[in-house]
Amino acid sequence: MHLLEAAGARILLDAGLFQGSRAEAAKKNAQLPFDARRINAVVLSHAHIDHSGRLPLLVRHGFHGPIYSTPATRDLCAVMLPDSAHIQEKDAEFLARHRRPKGPESEPLYSMADALAVQELIVGQPYRRIHHLRKHLAFEFTEAGHILGSASVDLRMTEDDGLRLVFSGDVGRSGLPIIRDPDPPTGPIDCLIVESTYGDREHETTGDAEARLGEIVRRTAARGGKVLVPAFALGRTQELVYSLHQLFRAGQIPEVPIYVDSPLAVETTSVFRMHPEVFDRKERLVERGDHILDFRLVRYVSDVDDSKRLNTLDGPAVIISASGMCEAGRILHHLANHIGDHRNVVLFVGFQAEHTLGRRLVEGEREVRIFGAKVERRAEVEVIGGYSAHADKHELRAWVKRLGGPIRRAFVVHGEPDSAEAMAAILRQEGVKDVTIPALGQAFDL
Ligand SMILES: [Zn+2]
Repeated sequence: MHLLEAAGARILLDAGLFQGSRAEAAKKNAQLPFDARRINAVVLSHAHIDHSGRLPLLVRHGFHGPIYSTPATRDLCAVMLPDSAHIQEKDAEFLARHRRPKGPESEPLYSMADALAVQELIVGQPYRRIHHLRKHLAFEFTEAGHILGSASVDLRMTEDDGLRLVFSGDVGRSGLPIIRDPDPPTGPIDCLIVESTYGDREHETTGDAEARLGEIVRRTAARGGKVLVPAFALGRTQELVYSLHQLFRAGQIPEVPIYVDSPLAVETTSVFRMHPEVFDRKERLVERGDHILDFRLVRYVSDVDDSKRLNTLDGPAVIISASGMCEAGRILHHLANHIGDHRNVVLFVGFQAEHTLGRRLVEGEREVRIFGAKVERRAEVEVIGGYSAHADKHELRAWVKRLGGPIRRAFVVHGEPDSAEAMAAILRQEGVKDVTIPALGQAFDL
């Protein structure tokens, strides 16, 4: 969340929710470091909760819009924010029942009504169209290539000497399934705010990822096993379905049923179906005009009873379910049922944070706790890194080069300290003299 004061206006770039350990995050999330009633507008880069998740809190504190986002981001928020509110309400309810004395986290951060109110304030703004926020303040969105609808923000102030500020949002990657490649703004930039999630890491290529996915499904199906994939409902699930569709058409995987078992994933997938205008036309299936997320093998499961029926499923299958780090959700039931069978594979395709069940499995633990009971893991564990939606260090450097510049000043955000330092080094190597890693709450005169 970045607050910009310019041309007599107070503009917020993103309003994300801190994620991580509950007590610490709850404290940070509850405090808005400004008066929400005095914010004139929000410009939102994309629908991930760490960028959009505090919009309902702004509304709760008296913010009354507008919020600008791409149309796809607006429609994804209509699904993601009520889900976030539901989690807030459930968590608070649980803590109120089980914890004495009550802490600040036993009050929900915001309610379903707050989340629904946000939707009325979001104005869809297409890519590459200049929008005037004020007489001397305008912006446009450019493709960030990270998830459906994701954008970088190109802001121009024309008062005095003028100033151009570019906010990267989250920088994606070339070659991701469905999503277009990043298309950053170009030319001289006075101030760059850039993310640094993977500033110090490298990914497998996306092509290698698909080949490995095919190999794992073939091998597991041949021995009668199931592939369980814990996956984030937004982005990763749709990319996997797309990859499996492509593999099936190419004869690279056998006829195994594929289940997407997550109500949120089912809803986010329907938002994808509403926005073919932002699909990558260079990709084979998109170009053919196929229904990219619907084919003979795939079933979308919302209903709880349908989900339970998957427990007694015989024979090979692919089950994609949330949450991505195995901390909650239906994936836990599938793991409890299938992790003891050596024919099965648990396939990880996303980041696993410390202290999560997903991380313990990735680290090879043989015995884990699921729903409080000890379970012995006999299933194989596989990891595919190539589906990451964030640019790695080489792709971040390529993105900076494409900006062209010169870049007068840069601020490195959205990364652990080591990644942020690595990104700052990349910027200096690319000729940016003034590079800052700002602390939370720090202010700068541009
Ligand atoms: Zn993101």
